[in-house]
Amino acid sequence: MFESLSDRLGKIFDGLKGRGALSEGDVDMALREVRRALIEADVSLEVVRAFVEQVRERAVGQEVTRSVTPGQQVVKIVHDELVSVLGEDAVPVSLNAPSPVPILMVGLQGAGKTTVSAKIAKRLKDRQGKKVLLASLDTRRPAAMEQLAILGRQVGVDNLPIVPGESATDIAKRAIREARLGGFDVVILDTAGRTHIDEELMAETAQIKALANPHEVLLVADALTGQDAVNLARSFDQRVDVTGIVLTRVDGDGRGGAALSMRAATGKPIKLIGTGEKMDALEDFHPGRIADRILGMGDIVSLVEKAREHVTAEDAERMAKKLKKGVFDLEDLRSQLQQMKKMGGMGGLMGLMPGAGQLKKAMAGTNIDEKVFDRQIAIINSMTKKERANPDLLNASRRKRIAAGSGTEVSDINKLMKQHRQMADMMKKVSKGGPGALAGMFGG
Ligand code: GDP
Ligand code: MG
Repeated sequence: MFESLSDRLGKIFDGLKGRGALSEGDVDMALREVRRALIEADVSLEVVRAFVEQVRERAVGQEVTRSVTPGQQVVKIVHDELVSVLGEDAVPVSLNAPSPVPILMVGLQGAGKTTVSAKIAKRLKDRQGKKVLLASLDTRRPAAMEQLAILGRQVGVDNLPIVPGESATDIAKRAIREARLGGFDVVILDTAGRTHIDEELMAETAQIKALANPHEVLLVADALTGQDAVNLARSFDQRVDVTGIVLTRVDGDGRGGAALSMRAATGKPIKLIGTGEKMDALEDFHPGRIADRILGMGDIVSLVEKAREHVTAEDAERMAKKLKKGVFDLEDLRSQLQQMKKMGGMGGLMGLMPGAGQLKKAMAGTNIDEKVFDRQIAIINSMTKKERANPDLLNASRRKRIAAGSGTEVSDINKLMKQHRQMADMMKKVSKGGPGALAGMFGG
């Protein structure tokens, strides 16, 4: 099982609690672990080096607060520094230009450009009432144009009619002309990628850019991009002056190190993240969440251990059975939340939930809203039995109904569903560990 940075640092610093300022030796030891955690999260080596130096400067000489351990203190410094490098706030896609506003999507093949194009179109239409035109400039694969047209129909957004044999630049010109004539607010230009960066790709992308004069140039990149992330982001940025980054497949196993690499390499904001193949799996980028993810996924084992002291044997058995099958539905989440409430609230527990990170423990007492559990339980109570058993049913209109029923916002529901998915994924992984692992976790 993965060991979080905070656990590793805890081991190093055990017994040093409340002992005055952090010495250079303490910090050096901690930074070795920080470096390892970042490399495991797939952050580029070059970025790791610079980042670790920044943290060193901030950490040496800092007073250790009495209520936390030096390890937790370093984790907090690392977290704050990660957030500050990643950018403090979610930066929206800008439409602050004369209509039709051209948005150009660039990136390697398979990064998710076509998917993100349709997702952004849907979001602009649904949330801002914008009239959007989608245009595929991918002349290399005929199927690529059809793919965008299909997604466009699916989300109810217009697609530029396909004219066989046209060049990418001709399509771009026609798209802008049609968007102007048709009174569109936004025109999204989805380009062809290639499996790697080469001069031909860059030249074509630059040519399209010069011609379309896009207001946003969004670099779409896979969150699982490893050491190439810096080179990728720099190449595109130097040639086409990227205005923002969209990170896709954040729903995957990766730890999000590419976000840090690309942001550090270009200084360009990460604007959105793709969290699935479905058309509404597009979210605002929140630096804090990616920072948590880079530092560690939370510790499901301690969650279970702590829970063990509080759940009845019967509950544990029911849970163990489900776990064995790798199933974790909303009914299970509700009973978890109820147990957590009994166990003394967020302070102790947030840190144990996958995705929230051990870190929250280090920051216990800051900004923790004890009402969150009640709200989350209310949300699940407002669902039908069927929905609880099958969270995939929760489409936009059902979410709206549940929000109204529980006196919450759709965003609260989205948050809860994301948390549930992360826990369900964790459970699946744990279940693969076999009955032995389970027996250990539940005390036999
Ligand atoms: P393009 O070549 O850059 O246009 O990439 P596509 O948009 O065709 O995406 C390639 C594949 O990745 C498709 O199967 C998408 O469904 C999938 N994909 C795109 N974004 C995401 C995401 O955020 N999460 C997951 N799991 N899959 C994604
Ligand atoms: Mg494509």
